[in-house]
Formats: sequence, structure tokens, C-alpha cells
Amino acid sequence: MADQYDLLVIGAGPGGYIAAIRGAQLGMKVAIVEREHMAGICSNWGCIPTKALLRTAEVYGHMSHAKDYGLTADSFGFDIDAIVKRSRGIAAQMNNGVQFLMKKNKVDIIWGEATITKPGEIKVAPTKKAIVQPQGPVPKNALGEGTYKARNIIIATGARPRVLPGIEPDGDRIWTYFEAMKPATMPKSLVVMGSGAIGVEFASFYRSMGAEVTIIELLPQIMPVEDAEISALARKRLEKRGIKILTDAKVAKVEKTKDGVIAHVELKSGEKQQVTGDKLISAVGVQCNIEGLGLETVGVKTERGAIVIDNYGKTNIDGIWAIGDVAGPPMLAHKAEHEAVITVEKIAGLPVHGLDKLKVPGCTYCEPQVASVGLTEAKAKEAGREIKVGRFPFVGNGKAIALGEPDGLVKTIFDAKTGELLGAHMVGAEVTELIQGFVIAMNLETTEEELIHTIFPHPTLSETMKESVLDAYGRVLNM
Ligand SMILES: Cc1cc2nc3c(=O)[nH]c(=O)nc-3n(C[C@H](O)[C@H](O)[C@H](O)COP(=O)(O)OP(=O)(O)OC[C@H]3O[C@@H](n4cnc5c(N)ncnc54)[C@H](O)[C@@H]3O)c2cc1C
Repeated sequence: MADQYDLLVIGAGPGGYIAAIRGAQLGMKVAIVEREHMAGICSNWGCIPTKALLRTAEVYGHMSHAKDYGLTADSFGFDIDAIVKRSRGIAAQMNNGVQFLMKKNKVDIIWGEATITKPGEIKVAPTKKAIVQPQGPVPKNALGEGTYKARNIIIATGARPRVLPGIEPDGDRIWTYFEAMKPATMPKSLVVMGSGAIGVEFASFYRSMGAEVTIIELLPQIMPVEDAEISALARKRLEKRGIKILTDAKVAKVEKTKDGVIAHVELKSGEKQQVTGDKLISAVGVQCNIEGLGLETVGVKTERGAIVIDNYGKTNIDGIWAIGDVAGPPMLAHKAEHEAVITVEKIAGLPVHGLDKLKVPGCTYCEPQVASVGLTEAKAKEAGREIKVGRFPFVGNGKAIALGEPDGLVKTIFDAKTGELLGAHMVGAEVTELIQGFVIAMNLETTEEELIHTIFPHPTLSETMKESVLDAYGRVLNM
């Protein structure tokens, strides 16, 4: 049988659906296989519904200190069902949007679970049962079970919550992000195991809504991939908001009680503590969806649980490619999307730049927000770079003060010899929107000179970025 498709994509998350669209744009006949929910974890259970919850928390936070702005809001409260309904409604809208995009780009949707039987061929079987959560709506006119052929197959099957042995989520008292996204009632107290972006965002949301929250982190700092100085400032702010934080601390055991959980914590110092909560969120990372794909049958190489690829998404088997979470860290939607475009353009024979992971920004949408790109100060030093470091606090910025957001810092790191921007790290209001300025700068291999000659609008928070650059060169103006 001749190939029915030029490209088959397995998984309709941000990696998969963007690959499908780019393939269609380049004139390929494309089909995408999805077993559970169009738009993947990102839109259904990840990036978007969490941001909807965090927006609620932000507005609620503003209401609770309305007085600071000369406003009166004597009586306000929340309805947890309505909060969750809003978040789930937004997730559903995203899911629908991706169905529309597939139709618009004439991408066939195949509903079911795909297994690669040999290079160029997959078998799709009906989804056995909801893998993680109740299945999303099955798209209209979706194709179903059968054998499908294409010269190129892209695996974009994503990841799921990592589970620690002995601390298995039970959907009741021990939650993953799925349960944390749709609480039936607001817990009064919460233990969050793990302080990566997912753990800290949920900690921030629940604290804003009034819960007593304790974060327990195995490593010496929260948000372990971030610059140590930024992480320390974020910690200070989170603690000021009433979140308890234990670092260098291991959850050895979780005991379920009649009313909640007791986390038995062992600190590096040898001290032992018991932390109680109504619920515990297990946020200790994610694990790639590599099972049942037929990888062993076709000989696709995996390492530490992820598919091994080159900078263009190519696996060790011709015609089989992998992108997004299933191909390893950083596990971020924009990394998945970027890999999707690179890989499809490579398949099409276009000249492309491979992925440079150093230029993948990372954002955490807690309060205060944290955002970064490039090398941390410690990593730059470890790499033997001679560096210049600039810092500018939000308190020196008129817009930050007008907003009532004077806590924040922008830190920039330059190569002392060449002026190359090596990294930028931020904590404070809206920094997740600001970081893109530095991402563009790094991508264009900008030096301090070019940044200093760039005009930043006034009054904006972005002026802190320029001041941080000026500070690295002893020329700070507003401090
Ligand atoms: C709570 C939370 C918050 C997050 N917030 C952010 C954020 O703010 N910013 C950010 O960049 N990232 C965030 N992420 C991470 C982001 O969601 C992922 O990096 C992103 O979804 C990865 O995209 P993907 O396409 O690789 O995989 P996924 O989105 O996981 O999609 C994979 C798809 O493949 C399907 N699939 C799997 N196996 C098969 C099979 N055999 N056959 C058919 N279909 C299959 C799955 O059903 C799924 O729909 C967050 C994640 C979580 C959990």
C-alpha cells in the first residue's frame, strides 16, 4: 500500500499540533493521532488552566488590599466551583481551538492510541480507557482504528506526573496537578512536595485563596534551575506571603490520617519534622510517555526515560522523529512548539537552525513571578566565563511604584571580554512578559552596547531591564 500521508504526528499537544500545522503549510498531507484530549496537557491540564487559576488569585489579591489603592471593598469572597468552572471553560475553549486549527489546515485527526509497528507505519487502537482524566471531546469526523502509513512519523506524546514510590497519588488526599486543578472544596492547609514551576504555582494559588501552605524541596533552593539570587528573593517574598518553605528536606513518608496527611520530613541537618495538611500535592516532576509506542520493536533509542534526538528532532531511526516533553527537558510548551517547527522544516529539507536549549526561556507564574533565559551567574562562572553582572531593583522604577509592585529585581550577566549577553534573570511583577526582550537580544547575539543604545518606553517596567544592563557597566542612572 502506498503511504497515505507524508507526515503522521502522534500526540496533539503543543508539540504535535504545531508540527501538523507547519507540515500542512509546507504542502504535506498530514494526520495527527490523539488518544485523549486535543491540545494536550498544556491547554487541558497545564499552562493555560493554571494561568486561569492564577489570574483569579491575582484579582483576589488585589481585592484584599484595595485600600492601598484608595478603594473600598468591604465584602468580597470566592466560589470555588465558579473558579474551577472558569479555568475548565478556558481549557475547553483551547481544546476546541486546536480542533478548528486542524480543520482549517486540512489535517486529519485520528482518534485512538498509536503504536509504531515499523518505520513508516503505525497502528491505531481505540483508547483503552481514560489514561489520566476523563477524555476530552472526540473531534467530529475523526478517523479511528486502523493501520496508517507515512514516510515520516513524529512522536509528540508528552509526559505525565512522576510518582515517588510509597507516595502514590490517590486522587483524594495525595494529589497530582490534575486534582489540584479542580478542587471540590478549598483545602485549609496544603503540603506541596517539590518546588519546580508546577509546585510553586499551585502553592502561590492556594496561599492567595487563604490556605496554609508548606513547600518541601529536596535541594538547597526553591525553583532549583533558577539563579540562586533570584530564587532567594522569590523565597523571601513567598515567605512574606505566609508560605512555609523547607529546603534540603526530603519527604520520607506520607501518612494518611482521617482528616488529611502527615508528611514525615527528614532535613539534611538530620532534624526530623512532621508537616500536616488537608492535602499533599506531589509535584516532583514529570515522566515521559514512552510506553506502548513500539519503541523497542523499531529500535528507537531512549535514555533516562526520554527519546534521544539530535538538535533537529531526529531519533536514531530514519523517518522517526521526536519533539516536546517526550524528548526530554526543558519540559516546556514553547520548547515543544519550537522543536516542532525545526523538525518539520528539517523533514521538508529547508535550511534550519537546531535547537539551542540555552535560549529557551523559563517562566514561573507565581506571585512574585520569576523568569529567566541563558546562564545563571553560577553556571557562567562554572563555564569559566569572566563576567560582568548588573542588577536593578523594581523600587528604582516609577511604573513599579505606581503599580504598587516595588519588590523585584532584574539581573543581567555579560561576558566581560565581548559584552555578549549570557543570561538574564528576573523576579517581580509581569517579568514573564518582560523576559522576551532579553530572549530576542540573546538570539540576535546582542552586546551591552546595543542594549544601551536601545530606547525603552517610559514609564514601563521594561526600563528596569535597561538599567540592569547599565549597572553591569557602572552606568546605572536611577539608582
Ligand atoms: C500544571 C502544569 C503547568 C504547566 N505550565 C506551563 C507553563 O506555564 N509554560 C510552559 O511552557 N509549560 C508548562 N507546562 C508544561 C507543558 O504543559 C508541557 O511542556 C507541554 O504540554 C508539552 O507539550 P507536548 O506536545 O510535548 O506534550 P503534551 O502536551 O503532553 O501532549 C501529548 C499528547 O500526546 C497524547 N498521546 C500520548 N501518547 C499517545 C499515543 N500513544 N497515541 C496517541 N496520543 C498519545 C496525549 O494524550 C497528549 O494529548 C505545564 C505543565 C503542567 C502539568
